[in-house]
This record gives sequence, structure tokens and C-alpha cells, in this order.
Amino acid sequence: MNKQQDRLSFRQAMAYTRRAFSIWWETAPELFLSATVRRAADALTPYVPLYFTARLVNAIAGGGDGGTVWPTLWLLLLSTAAAGAVRAAAGCWDEGVRDSRLWPAWNRVFFQKLLAMDFCDVDDPKTQALLTQILQNDNWGEFGLSKVYSCYGKLVEAAFRVLGALALSVSLFTLPVPAGGSLVWLNHPGCLAGILALLAVTAVVSPLLQGRSQAYWYRADGTQGNRAFEFFTYAAIQDPHRGTDVRTYGQDGYILTKSHREMPTNAFGIKSQLAKDFRGRAGALAATSKAVDRAFTGTVYLFVGLKALGGAFGVGSVTQYVGALAGLAGGVSDALATVGKLRENAEFLKPVYQLLDTPNRMYQGSLTTEKRADRSYEIEFKDVGFQYPGTETWALRHVSMKFRVGGRLAVVGENGSGKTTFIKLLCRLYDPTEGVILLNGIDIRKYRYDDYLALFSVVFQDFKLLAQPLGANVAAAEDYDRARAEQCLVKAGFGARLSELPKGLDTCLYREFEENGVEVSGGEAQKIALARVLYQDAPFIVLDEPTAALDPEAEAEIYTKFNDIVEDKTAVYISHRLSSCRFCDEIAVFDQGRVVQQGTHDGLVGAEGKYKSLWDAQAQYYQKSEG
Ligand code: ADP
Repeated sequence: MNKQQDRLSFRQAMAYTRRAFSIWWETAPELFLSATVRRAADALTPYVPLYFTARLVNAIAGGGDGGTVWPTLWLLLLSTAAAGAVRAAAGCWDEGVRDSRLWPAWNRVFFQKLLAMDFCDVDDPKTQALLTQILQNDNWGEFGLSKVYSCYGKLVEAAFRVLGALALSVSLFTLPVPAGGSLVWLNHPGCLAGILALLAVTAVVSPLLQGRSQAYWYRADGTQGNRAFEFFTYAAIQDPHRGTDVRTYGQDGYILTKSHREMPTNAFGIKSQLAKDFRGRAGALAATSKAVDRAFTGTVYLFVGLKALGGAFGVGSVTQYVGALAGLAGGVSDALATVGKLRENAEFLKPVYQLLDTPNRMYQGSLTTEKRADRSYEIEFKDVGFQYPGTETWALRHVSMKFRVGGRLAVVGENGSGKTTFIKLLCRLYDPTEGVILLNGIDIRKYRYDDYLALFSVVFQDFKLLAQPLGANVAAAEDYDRARAEQCLVKAGFGARLSELPKGLDTCLYREFEENGVEVSGGEAQKIALARVLYQDAPFIVLDEPTAALDPEAEAEIYTKFNDIVEDKTAVYISHRLSSCRFCDEIAVFDQGRVVQQGTHDGLVGAEGKYKSLWDAQAQYYQKSEG
């Protein structure tokens, strides 16, 4: 984002901000209620002792007897205590609501969008970069959506400060200095106008200068600094993959030096541009802003003091009026400063909306995939070609293939030959660039997307289980059929391990959330993932090399075993190891994005071609490693 070049106009910035408000409102309206109550209490509480202290001092100064002084004193004490209690309670309530709702709501906004987006856009590095930028901006200074919410609180507080101040200062202008004294000129309407003009100028100039000073903060880009901070403080050591390397290679010294030397200087440190700015112009602007503010307070003191001297009101009222006018100026100035902040923050809403406004370009059909008892779903690829977005090369080209219902198809080929791309198209994570994919003779784009997707159970190479109870992982849900989950685990070969687990299906996997969680090995995780496929009971199942980390024999064993338990489903097995898929009645050989051969193992190995040459090369390798 080039902040200087395409700076938003004030109107645009406010339109961006309004949209952010409505996003918050739609996502978590309860946040506004608690914030309003809390901020109103924050703003009005200081006025309570201000008002009653004035009454008390007036009573004492007026020579009031115990009859007026004591009740006023009690009123002051009780009302101050009550206001303080209300304020504290409102504060606790709001903190609770914020802590429990704010961050989840923020996440929900992006989470829902990412889930609703076309997968090809989620998978696009540009989307990932945008998301990182949004997260970094939020980390850097809560810029983006978070700032809009925190500014809401500030605006409400400012509004209540102004209202309270107006209520307490009206009589300052309506009570005249009694005629005859030398100070009657203070009754002249010009004085009122002068004070109000001064108030207006201060309320505008002070936040303006403050805003100019703050702008240095906004202009400094903390993204990189934050990234370095996170990386060198936590990620490099905490991340289990990096952490082991850091230890074994003794990189700790290097990381410490880096974190001391490089990280603080680039964004936050004493040598950073930001620090220099604040020692210079930005600091001077902030100081002038405060000076203007204090000059106003001084003038108000003078005006109120003179009016009291002239006899317009009791001496106690002096503190009330001074306090109220300071509150008035403070409220207006806070409101303007907050608007200034919102204006600057709107620049950080640009990447947010860029992400949220990513259109869904994939055609969404309306046909339902009828639930067929006979599972007779036939899929056909017709001259399908595909280029990943932003690339010129064909990851797949001229692929034509029919899936036999209930059959076992093996997709084999070297790494990079297009096998996974083929599966991504089959599951409609992407649409073909050329050609069509048909389900029972109809273009798959014409079906409802979620309906179509429900036909498949896929275990991808980099599948992930959740740090949640075992049963919930198998069922992909919190409430599930326990007997069925158990049955699927047993079928997938996890039965023996399951009977050892003290909490059975309720055993939590991994230790992220549960101290007693179990660490499962790669092989066990695969079995659980296979049980998940069985539980889902979709008519199509796909194993996309989830066993790549195992040795070839173990992989072949899992594939063969799985083949025995998938029953009448149509199964697709993918592997770069030909030996794993020998059992399949149909093998498609991929090479550089094309299907170059199709047939059975015996047929293919007996003919010259890609399959035979791969088979020979791999067999040679196994023999060598065995020998
Ligand atoms: P395989 O599963 O056989 O290893 P892939 O289907 O993953 O092969 O890859 C086929 C080709 O598409 C490769 O040249 C790979 O570099 C390219 N490719 C895969 N994923 C992407 C992506 N997200 N963006 C761009 N190119 C990709």
C-alpha cells in the first residue's frame, strides 16, 4: 500500500469508517452496549464530586450553619462513592464483554470471508500477503477494524463529557455580576462570545496539532518491525520445526544478537526514524498542543475567578465552572482528535476491504446431487486443461478420463506431474481452464457447491488433525455417533491403540490445550485420518499420498488395507510410488500434466512406456536400499 500516493479524502475516510462500524455492529452488537454504558460512566463520574464540592464550599463560605453543611457533606460523600461504584462495575462488565467477544468477533469477520471465498483465491499468495498485512497492522497499533471499535468508545465518552459540562456550566453565563460593581462589564455578551470562541479555537487547534504529531506514528510502518520482533523473539525458538534446528546448530547466540541489534532499531528503537521524529517536529507539535490547551484553561480560570469576585456566584462554584469548561474543551478536543485518528486509520481499512470484497468468481450452480442409494455417481473429465492463476504453464492438459462407479483408480506419476492438481479439479477447489468435468453427464459447475463437495472424502498429503478429542476428529463434529466412530477407528487399524487410551474417544490429541493429551505418531495420525474418511461415508474417497512420509512398503500396506475396507465406494489412490498402487484395476500414468498411459499394472509393466521406465527405476532403487 502506498499511503502517500492514494490517500483517501476525508469523505472517503469517513465512508470507510462507517462501513467498519456496521461490520462490528453486524458481528457483535453487544460490544456497543457495554462500551456505551462504561464510557458514559467514565465521562460523568468526575462531574459528581465537582458539583457537590461546589455546593459544599458555597455552604461553608456563605457562613452556612451545620444545617446545610452537614447534609451537603454527606451528599458529596455518598454520591461520589455511588458514582465510583457504578463506574467500576460498568468498567468490569465492559472488560468482560471485550475480552470474550472482541477478538473472536474480529476473527469471525475474516474467518467467514476466507471460508466463503473461492479456494483458488484463498490459495493465492496475494491473499495470504493481504491477511498478513491486516494482522500486522492490528498488532502494530490496533490499526484497522480494532481501531474503529476503540474509537467508538472514545467518541461516546467525549459526547457525555460535553453534555455533562454543558449542564454544569450554563449558570456561569446566566448568573450576572450584580450591578454597581467595577466588574459588571463581565456581563457583556461579548465576554460569553469570547470564551466560546476561545473554546472553539482550542478545541480545534489542540487536537489538530496533536493529530499532526500522531501522524508520524501512522506513517512509520511497523509491519516489518513487528514481523522481526515476533520472529526473533518467539517464532524462531517456539516453532517446533525451527526450535530443534536452533538447538542442534547452536543458533541461539545468533538469534540473540539479531534480536538485540537489528530488531529494535528498525521500528521501535532509539535510533529509529520514529524516535528521531518524536525528538524533533512530532514532539514539538505535541508540546504546542498541550500548551494551547493549558492557555485556554488559564483564561477560563481568570474569567470565572473575576465573575466570582464580582459577586455573580459563590466561591465554591469557581471549581465547578472551571472543571466543567475544562471538561467541555476536553470533550470537544477528544472528539476531534478521535475523528482525526479515524481518518488516519481509514488507510489501514483499505487492505481489510480489499480482502473482504474479493468477489467469488466461481460459478455456483443450483442443482442438488440427489442422494442415490446405489451410489451411482459417474464422473468424467473431458479434455481438461488447467493453469494456476498467474502462471503461463499448463499444470494439466488434455486430460480425459472416466471414473468407473465403485472402481479403484490409481493416479501415479513423478512429483510435479499434476496428480494433486487433478484431485483439486475433481473436488472443484479450482475450475478447469479448458474442458469440462461431468457428474452423471452434467457439468459439475451446475451443482450446488456444498452438495457436490459432500460427495468426496479426501486425505491430502499435508492433512491435519485438530488438538481436540479423538472422536471429534474422526467425526469432524462435537456431537457424534460414538459407536460408529469407534467402528471406523477399528477398521482403520487404530483399534489396539484405542483400547489402550484411558479416555478412549474422549482422549485429547496433542498437548496444545490438554496437559494429558496424547502425541500420536505420523502413522497413527494417518489411521485416524482414514477413520475420518470412513466416518464421512462419502461415495468418493481420495487418498492423495497421505503416506508420503512412510517408507514404500508401509505405504503399500496401508493402501492395500484401505482398499479392503472402502467397500462399494469409488476410490482414487495417488502416489509417486508405483508399488503402492499395483492392486488397482485401473492405473492412470501422469507425466508433465498429461495422462500418458492407462491400464492395469501387468499390462503397463509389460509394455514400453513411462510406467515401465518408472517401475524399473523405482524397483532398482528398492533393491539397492534393501541390499
Ligand atoms: P504432483 O501432485 O504430481 O506432485 P502437482 O499437481 O502438485 O503435482 O503440480 C503440478 C504442477 O503445477 C507443478 O509444476 C507445480 O509446480 C504446479 N503447481 C502446483 N501447485 C501450484 C500453485 N498453487 N500455484 C502454481 N503452480 C502450482
